[in-house]
Amino acid sequence: MTMELPNDPARADVLAARPTLWTNGLYRENAIADASLPLEPSQVDEAEANWKRLAPLLAACFPELDATAGAIRSDLIELDALREALGYGGAGFGRVFVKADSALPVAGSIKARGGVYEVFVFAEELARREGLLARGQDIRNLAGPDARAFFSRYTIAVGSTGNLGLSVGIAARALGFKATVHMSSDAKAWKVERLRKLGVEVVQHEADYTTAVEMAREVAASDPSIYFVDDEQSRRLFLGYSAAASELAGQLAACGVTVDADHPLFLYLPCGIGGAPGGVAYGAKKIFGDAVHCFFVEPVQSPCALVHMMSGSQDLVSVYDVGLTNDTEADGMAVARMSAFVATVMREMLAGVFTVDDASLFRWLRLAHETQAIRLEPSAAAGFAGPHFLVDHPQGRAFAERWKIGDSLARATHVVWTTGGSFVPQEQFDAFLKTAAELG
Ligand SMILES: *Cc1c(COP(=O)(O)O)cnc(C)c1O
Repeated sequence: MTMELPNDPARADVLAARPTLWTNGLYRENAIADASLPLEPSQVDEAEANWKRLAPLLAACFPELDATAGAIRSDLIELDALREALGYGGAGFGRVFVKADSALPVAGSIKARGGVYEVFVFAEELARREGLLARGQDIRNLAGPDARAFFSRYTIAVGSTGNLGLSVGIAARALGFKATVHMSSDAKAWKVERLRKLGVEVVQHEADYTTAVEMAREVAASDPSIYFVDDEQSRRLFLGYSAAASELAGQLAACGVTVDADHPLFLYLPCGIGGAPGGVAYGAKKIFGDAVHCFFVEPVQSPCALVHMMSGSQDLVSVYDVGLTNDTEADGMAVARMSAFVATVMREMLAGVFTVDDASLFRWLRLAHETQAIRLEPSAAAGFAGPHFLVDHPQGRAFAERWKIGDSLARATHVVWTTGGSFVPQEQFDAFLKTAAELG
């Protein structure tokens, strides 16, 4: 299929793979209250309660969570030196923060909020169903030898470009499950090696992410002992991510940040299939309502959420349909076709999507390292373009005018969500820095 994108100020840039900002014409106030959505805000509260209940088990499985009693949290870091280096020194940019999921424990990426959550929720559900964990019993029993032997009869399967496989594989093995990860051709060798060392079966496909997921789904469908983590449809993944918003809200409050109609909050969320950024955005809308504006960010050759949402089509539109290649060094975002589920939820809730080229990712990765010792992988640097697009770009200015926030920008807060990087081996990270240096 080829697809004509509708007339839009961003269309020419998108088709020519030039960095740009698209703002969503369907964006509206209080979209989260739409009763026809396949999800309810109260489910975010349930996810938070699940995380709390599972925390002692998580701490039992992962000693690095001792300090937080099993909570998987990241820091909120205000930019100072990096802010200047990025060109955001002016007062017109308000306050600028990084939400450092790049350093999340357990999985080293935002996938710790999704993959780990889904595997642990499934484990508890299975254990209760099979009579392994009675009401009132200590959830830490699920880290004991009997539970491990029981879980080892099941396999957790997933398709991934790398990080979801890493988080699901780590979580599954920690509880004693078998695990199979179907990797797309984008997957970095070190992620494959790390999984194999944990005893995870890694199937490498010479195909893109969508195909890897299809293969995983097919294998799982034929065998009831396989539980498939479905990145294209999973509510669980989405809700696991959504709990990040209340963590952010507490941190912003602790930094003295007000979020209301006069003090807008902007979130810049790197997007692959849409689950992680969609979940965080959904949780943020539940807490901050119309005072938060959520933007996805995608590589210029893989803007799957942008082209689908811009198209207005009922059927999913992929980046191939509009002549783009899905080639990018940002493996966490190398996805050609977004999740239909996320597309439905975000239709009127997402403010817009901007795109970035790979060279910029490497430059920002290096700046973040040199100025504030923040360690990123290329995908994770994508959000740094956000304040620029919002404040300087014609479509950003039109957006501010439309939502009557042009005069509040100096009182605004920008949060750049950095999504992965702390597990990158030193050799690989040095290679990223070298690439950045060569780009100048
Ligand atoms: C997975 C991932 C994303 C995007 O998440 P999706 O759920 O695929 O949209 C962004 N950055 C990194 C580093 C990731 O691992």
